Amino acid sequence: MAFNATNGAFHDDLYAGTDFSSLNWLEQQWVWWYVTIGNPVIATGLMSFLLHEIVYFGRSIPWIIIDAIPYFRKYKLQPTKIPTPAEQWECTKGVLFSHFTIELPAIWLFHPMAESLGMSTYQVPFPSWKIMAPQIALFFVFEDFFHFVAHQMLHTGILYKHIHKIHHKYSAPFGLAAEYAHPAEVMILGAGTIAGPLLYCWFTRDFHIVTMYVWILLRLFQAIDSHSGYDFPWSLQHILPFWSGAEHHDFHHMAFTNNFSTSFRWWDHIFGTDIKYQEYRARVKAAKKAMKGATKEQQQQMEAKLMAEVEAEGIRAEAEAEGSAPKTVKVQ
Ligand SMILES: [Zn+2]
Ligand SMILES: [Zn+2]
Repeated sequence: MAFNATNGAFHDDLYAGTDFSSLNWLEQQWVWWYVTIGNPVIATGLMSFLLHEIVYFGRSIPWIIIDAIPYFRKYKLQPTKIPTPAEQWECTKGVLFSHFTIELPAIWLFHPMAESLGMSTYQVPFPSWKIMAPQIALFFVFEDFFHFVAHQMLHTGILYKHIHKIHHKYSAPFGLAAEYAHPAEVMILGAGTIAGPLLYCWFTRDFHIVTMYVWILLRLFQAIDSHSGYDFPWSLQHILPFWSGAEHHDFHHMAFTNNFSTSFRWWDHIFGTDIKYQEYRARVKAAKKAMKGATKEQQQQMEAKLMAEVEAEGIRAEAEAEGSAPKTVKVQ
């Protein structure tokens, strides 16, 4: 829809002096949205919430389809564990609950906070991609470290038992499970996602919310894909070796330990919280080498056995983290 430049009094307040002819299509839609809604707080809140829902579920749908197609099993990291439709529905309900109870109010409060820090919201034009790209790269690095620290804290005692345990319900995660977590966890880890843009804005007083939307969109893609349970030959981690991807985070869910960061592998590597993961990879590699010439089924059995060992160890580690007596281990 093209923007009508003579569109009422509100437009005059908000967009006085704006040269509409120089705006691109997206910027025109942006203006139309803010003018139509008529209240910047509601306009920003509604757009943020809708964007989050559309991107989250939109990005999860391809993984639901992939889970339903047997052809893709060969790329599944834990091939015997395919989420059932009932499990996926259960997970969706949990995610929606936290979206409506925690994220919706938080998003609503975001606009006044952003404005007080001088963040541009309704303003046009948008910053150029040359300005956005380094800012987003910075947010990725900042959030990854924040998550690395906070996630390890969530693996201790009471915090694990009462909060993070919910996210670990799935030892073989799937896309929809990315935000399946206790509301307190959504707040704790979500703080790392929005703190980057807020701090940047506070320091520079020159930041547009559209950059934050692009950042959140990419971060959502990262979170959902890393929970997908699939590693393809064309997955990003094979192109950028420091990118975590599904292969890295799937191990965290399977083994309960190691690999605490989100987007990048470097912190786990530097602090040695990927030792068990590296050992496991080496074991699989050595076993594959030793089994050269064996049938595909035999190789699959061997991999399933190694996975079961790691998972059994994880169940013991989980019991320890909770402070409860080690359980009798039963692996499917
Ligand atoms: Zn965890
Ligand atoms: Zn996870």
